[in-house]
Amino acid sequence: MRGTITGKTIVCGIIGDPIGHSLSPIMHNKSFKKLGLDYVYVPFRVRSGELKKAVDGMRGLSIRGLNITIPHKVAVIQFLDRIDPLAEEIGAINTIINDGGILTGYNTDASGFLKTLRDNGIQPAGKKVLLLGAGGAARAIGSVLAQEKAKLTIFNRLEGLPWAEDIAYRLAHLNGTAVKAVELNYENLKAAIADAEILVNATSVGMHPADNQTPVSADLLHANLTVFDIVYNPLPTRLLKEAADAGAKTIGGVEMLVRQGAISFEKWTGRSAPVDVMRESVLSSLSQKNEK
Ligand code: NAP
Repeated sequence: MRGTITGKTIVCGIIGDPIGHSLSPIMHNKSFKKLGLDYVYVPFRVRSGELKKAVDGMRGLSIRGLNITIPHKVAVIQFLDRIDPLAEEIGAINTIINDGGILTGYNTDASGFLKTLRDNGIQPAGKKVLLLGAGGAARAIGSVLAQEKAKLTIFNRLEGLPWAEDIAYRLAHLNGTAVKAVELNYENLKAAIADAEILVNATSVGMHPADNQTPVSADLLHANLTVFDIVYNPLPTRLLKEAADAGAKTIGGVEMLVRQGAISFEKWTGRSAPVDVMRESVLSSLSQKNEK
């Protein structure tokens, strides 16, 4: 936001339930201010039964852009006019752009993940990648990794193994690549990790307040790995600390959070996002939250 809201101010926002914890309002409002853009970003709590009304409201109120978070990322698609092909493959979106009443959905979690890897000098093509988790974020990440022709194995705990098998089957079919799904346990990780190059944690294991948990036993980590933990609170996670101790390259979840936000920002404003401002605002919000 530039300062005062006027009749010309362009409105963006986020819908989800709950929404109070979201770091996106501070990240986007600080970025609008930095670039002197007459935009404002507002959090809206939208309950599941109210989703259609919220999307109709976006059209009616000429809201320029929305981020979509839990629990609406899948259900919202039916109310849009267009969907980006990658988001369609994933089956979930996190960003809508409103062009004169035409609503188009994108998945910037997926593109933000890939951009983070590339900005760290890593090209996933042909690399052996272990992806932990089969939830919403893992589905987005799995799609870009399979499109990039990574050699992918998806790990999920036994309760959720059918989800991982379903994702693996779909990704293999769509991309003509071999994608495996196995139970997330010590023995299976041990068998797969020695010659792996990238390990991505897309489970919620290790997320605050369970800071002392990790999905991978420290003795399995090694120096030839890049370990990308998409959990962004705490920073670093236990997994990232132990990976660094083992000599691995590490990437934290704030980097993905900031890049998915930057891609949404660029779609709504047509301007390059001030990624450093986004990162600083997220890091300072997280440290204030954790002090409370
Ligand atoms: P989700 O849909 O709820 O999926 C959670 C995943 O974690 C599932 O695969 C679940 O397994 C697994 N899991 C949960 N508890 C587990 C445990 N005790 N042991 C083993 N596996 C466990 O959540 P999500 O939206 O994908 O988000 C996952 C994490 O990523 C969260 O921490 C979220 O904050 C973070 N995230 C970060 C970014 C970013 O930009 N950095 C973006 C999106 C999400 P089951 O299938 O068996 O339940």
